[in-house]
Amino acid sequence: MPCTPEPPEAVRRCRLRIRGQVQGVGFRPHVYALALSRGLSGWVTNDTEGVLAEVQGRAVRDFLADLVDRAPPLARIDDIRVEDRPPSAGAEDFAILDSSRAGAVATEVPPDAAVCPACLEELFDPQDRRYRYPFLTCTHCGPRFTITGQLPYDRPQTSMAGFALCAACEREYRDPADRRFHAQPIACPDCGPQLSMPVEKIVARLMAGEILAIKGLGGFHLACDARNAAAVSRLRRAKQRDGKPFAVMVAGLASVGGLAEADADEAALLTGIDRPVVLLRKAAGAAALADGIAPGLPWLGVLLPYTPLHALLFHEAAGRPNGTGWLQQPQDLVLVMTSANVGGEPLVIDGKDAARRLGGIADATVDHDRPIVVRADDGVVRRVAGRPLWIRRARGAVPRPVRLARTLPPVLALGAHFKSTVCLTRGADAFLSQHIGDLDTAESLRFFEEAVAHLRRLVGSEPVLVAHDRHPDYASTRFADGLDLPALPVQHHHAHVAAVAAEHGVAGPLLGLALDGVGLGDDGTAWGGELMEVDGAHYRRLGHLAELPLPGGDAAATQPWRMAAAVLHQLGRSGEIAPRLAAHGPAAELAELLRRGLRCPPTSSAGRLFDAAAGLLGICPVASYEAEAAMRLEGLVSVPRLQPGGWTIDDHNRLGLLPLLEALIGCDPQVGAELFHGTLIAGLVDWVGRAAEATGLTQVALGGGCLANRVLAEGLIDGLTAHGLAVLTARNVPPNDGGLALGQAWIAGLWAADNGM
Ligand code: ZN
Ligand code: ZN
Ligand code: FE
Repeated sequence: MPCTPEPPEAVRRCRLRIRGQVQGVGFRPHVYALALSRGLSGWVTNDTEGVLAEVQGRAVRDFLADLVDRAPPLARIDDIRVEDRPPSAGAEDFAILDSSRAGAVATEVPPDAAVCPACLEELFDPQDRRYRYPFLTCTHCGPRFTITGQLPYDRPQTSMAGFALCAACEREYRDPADRRFHAQPIACPDCGPQLSMPVEKIVARLMAGEILAIKGLGGFHLACDARNAAAVSRLRRAKQRDGKPFAVMVAGLASVGGLAEADADEAALLTGIDRPVVLLRKAAGAAALADGIAPGLPWLGVLLPYTPLHALLFHEAAGRPNGTGWLQQPQDLVLVMTSANVGGEPLVIDGKDAARRLGGIADATVDHDRPIVVRADDGVVRRVAGRPLWIRRARGAVPRPVRLARTLPPVLALGAHFKSTVCLTRGADAFLSQHIGDLDTAESLRFFEEAVAHLRRLVGSEPVLVAHDRHPDYASTRFADGLDLPALPVQHHHAHVAAVAAEHGVAGPLLGLALDGVGLGDDGTAWGGELMEVDGAHYRRLGHLAELPLPGGDAAATQPWRMAAAVLHQLGRSGEIAPRLAAHGPAAELAELLRRGLRCPPTSSAGRLFDAAAGLLGICPVASYEAEAAMRLEGLVSVPRLQPGGWTIDDHNRLGLLPLLEALIGCDPQVGAELFHGTLIAGLVDWVGRAAEATGLTQVALGGGCLANRVLAEGLIDGLTAHGLAVLTARNVPPNDGGLALGQAWIAGLWAADNGM
């Protein structure tokens, strides 16, 4: 058979304009190496807009394909524009031009990245000059966001400024063919940061049952042997958190299997360069861990080593094997690795602070001399509906922007009160900060202010408007009042829905369903189960969950037995409150408050509905951390089931679940949890479906903290999709208050554009 070879490409010259995360990630050497391998001539440089290059030769088409397909791990290409130019005669070589002449600044700082495979090979190679060096990094891995104070992203702006490169490191830094070409944080044992305690000693002390405060990328961890029950319970007591689960770190993917189940998607989450804590279903081997790791829950938070130091701890415990083959074998060591913060304060990042604030908890501190410029906790994700869902977006994810549907005037958004994050926009990019935490303490407020200032320095845009929650008493609202900027209050659940719409680039009218803990409504009451129509910067409340009284006010949010009392009262069964619930608190007094309507503000909160169900089933009468009752309730579900006639929809479009809740009284906990989930899902689908018919809208965005519940989220997605609706859910930001600032920013940006700001 005759074979027709493809005709050789004619000589072409192209100018390439590449935008995205293309500076400080090894993009120029990538272009350089590809051009050389394809025999192309030309040049590449950084400038204020990204990377600019010209290439000339016969293989430009293949070059362009590889440019994208084989991009460096930390690169993110938003856009490539290719423009043909007349070929120039005599062009032969390919050069990396000095970017300083073009007035270039790296306009985006990359996120921190887990230690890469090539660095791991060196770390465990006795012949390598960085053998067992806890701070080795290269262009493709290591600290970025947490060591950078301001733009441009260059070594002098990072906390590596104080470490002068030795001759060997300098050579690598200058060599375009080297993996460490222009890698800002590079170091070696001769010129770089040092650890305050030998790895051998750290491991020996952990194995002996000690609790150590270990400095990491974005802050200190408290670490101990996860199989040592005494150490774990000592840590739990000292951290003052009764039941909140601890994350554990294991050597590698091969060591996860015994403890927890991870399918291929979850394995990809565990090994990704952002290396978050991944919530996995416990396996039989989890029983070998100390009881106090994740009490009462079927899930375990697992993370893999992401710094060379982490990897060295497991390497030491494995007997210092050469090479990386041992990582393919299950390893015994399991470490609790929990954020070193105490009593609601932010993560400790400084060695002196560690000694002072963690002195009563940790037996010793493992410090190093590379300062952390800004703190970033470990991220937390779980897989929901076949994709990762961020529960806490932090190290590894920030400051990667969310791309908006359109360019908007720059705005700053300050979030709410719990799980605080802030957001600053620049053009069509929205930069969401790392998880800051609840703004309950003076320390966390200081961190909030630092995070705002740091984000402004990193993004470099000047906001024309500041968005904040409608609640007047939140510290974030008061902070907005103190800025010299016009301020826009945004209703909490409008912002939840807008955050999802923003991620999907939807500005037009859509339905929004917010299932949440609490947010202040326009009528001054506590909202949290809201059906709305959202159109750009505006919204209309179409309906809400039927209100329940909050007996005793805020205390009801942490004591599900109080919500059970509220339900009994509404059912006209007040006489059962004391007999059924007196074991958990002052039930008779509560019944009296309910009867007289005193200190019982109404709420449409979905979160309190979960609490009511848990309280009625006796699953978690008093919660020791936020959302514990809902998590335990979800943990009991194997298959959601339906309670016929379990819900009502009244003339004011209120969805009521009292018939369902009544069916839970005296019910078996697992059966009750399954009835609650299945019936709630069916009721919500019915409710939203009717709203879709009434309004003609075909898209619905789901937001709010309850969407972190996998059973609920997957049930709603299936049910609403079957109803013919397009369902939008959170993608790269959390559906909870940690994503709220993005929704506020999207609303404020649209509002500013509408008003010609
Ligand atoms: Zn590396
Ligand atoms: Zn060096
Ligand atoms: Fe919320």
